[in-house]
Amino acid sequence: MTEPLLSVNDLSVSYGRVQAVRGVSFDVEAGALVTLVGANGAGKSSIINAISGIVRPSGGRILFDGADITKTKSHRLVPRGLVQVPEGRQILATMTIAENLQMGARTHGAGAGTAIDEMYQRFPVLGERRRLAAGSLSGGEQQMLAIARAMLARPKLMLMDEPSMGLAPKIVNEVFAVIDEVLAGGTTVLLVEQNARRALQAAREGHILQNGEIVRSGASADLLADDDIIQAYLGTG
Ligand code: ATP
Repeated sequence: MTEPLLSVNDLSVSYGRVQAVRGVSFDVEAGALVTLVGANGAGKSSIINAISGIVRPSGGRILFDGADITKTKSHRLVPRGLVQVPEGRQILATMTIAENLQMGARTHGAGAGTAIDEMYQRFPVLGERRRLAAGSLSGGEQQMLAIARAMLARPKLMLMDEPSMGLAPKIVNEVFAVIDEVLAGGTTVLLVEQNARRALQAAREGHILQNGEIVRSGASADLLADDDIIQAYLGTG
């Protein structure tokens, strides 16, 4: 059996006396889309911030691409192929789309010109509007820009923190189409979402988080077909 690209083992995260994540373990195979779903405050952001080195775990081990990265800071992980698209997108609204991508290319050390042209081909909306302020894009397009910027690092693994947050249902579909593009480009994706049903529909495998613990794991199709799970976590809609 091949090693998973990412392996999270007995991970805990605490903020002072608040234990946000307790003994969470899961793997992500190369090429997969895996999702962690759960309500507000379940610990989703804490888990991906621990993986990407933004938050220091209080316990457990994280292995990425064959190496122990439990204590590795985020700026050292990017060149190794692990990037995070932050919650709330964090694009620079007054700068143009092109400038946002150029900054991303510089941060990632990517050969700017060709890498950015490739993004314009992949996401034509960004190419057509490259000279406009990024703040003029719709919420979904801003998410697309944030993802394109992260792709400039040519990551092996992309962590996404609630990319559908605050977006209308039609736009959510567009964001999931962008995630499909990321997967098609050969990047593995770990997606954290409150929109559990939509995330499970897109993912191969899912883990349901509650109060910092994984309460159910499985193939997404099985989780979506389970009436108890639908009642407890996914609503009836
Ligand atoms: P959300 O959807 O709101 O981002 P989440 O599932 O990502 O929720 P986390 O943000 O990981 O959850 O938060 C888990 C718990 O840790 C919550 O109780 C939260 O209040 C707490 N928490 C998160 N960040 C901090 C912090 N910097 N200091 C103290 N407590 C925190």
